[in-house]
Amino acid sequence: MTNKEKKQKLLDALYEPYKTHHNCPIKRSDPHSPVFGVGNPDAQILLIGEAPGRQEDEQGLPFVGRSGQLLTKVLHSLDIQRTDIFITNIVKCRPPLNRTPTPKEVQGYKDFLLKQIEIIQPKVICTLGSVATHTFLPQESPMSALRGRIHYWNNIPIIPTYHPAYILRNMTKGEVFIRDLEKVAQYINP
Ligand code: URA
Repeated sequence: MTNKEKKQKLLDALYEPYKTHHNCPIKRSDPHSPVFGVGNPDAQILLIGEAPGRQEDEQGLPFVGRSGQLLTKVLHSLDIQRTDIFITNIVKCRPPLNRTPTPKEVQGYKDFLLKQIEIIQPKVICTLGSVATHTFLPQESPMSALRGRIHYWNNIPIIPTYHPAYILRNMTKGEVFIRDLEKVAQYINP
């Protein structure tokens, strides 16, 4: 069995109990399935966003809406396919009205996320936006100070950047977003 197959099996085993019954930390009462993540389970790059939006909730896949389309476009411009990397969110279920997840909700999904990281063992983590970044790095540091730099968490390099939804609203930050992701791309072995 290849590493990729072994890791996929471990991820499937992690996800299985949550498919049929999960004690959703978001406390949504409507029937819904968590958006676990997508991509190569043996990826060198792990991208972590905030939470699924409406389209992600409907399709069961992270970053498929407008933000996701921008992200995918930038990744392609750096010669990275979504299938090369692994993409997930801190929070696995869509918060009502797309509100920002509370610290308690983030905490509620943290063990699950840590297990995903333990299985994937990425060479680098790229956090997209403040919620993902501040799950790993000090709350008091603003995104403008953290982004584009290499930080370490449990010996894994973390490179934070802005959330693509923020870039859609602030196109002038597009250049730095691309540069940050370029830095992340350097962790892919040729
Ligand atoms: N925003 C996120 O943070 N994650 C998604 O999957 C979609 C939009």
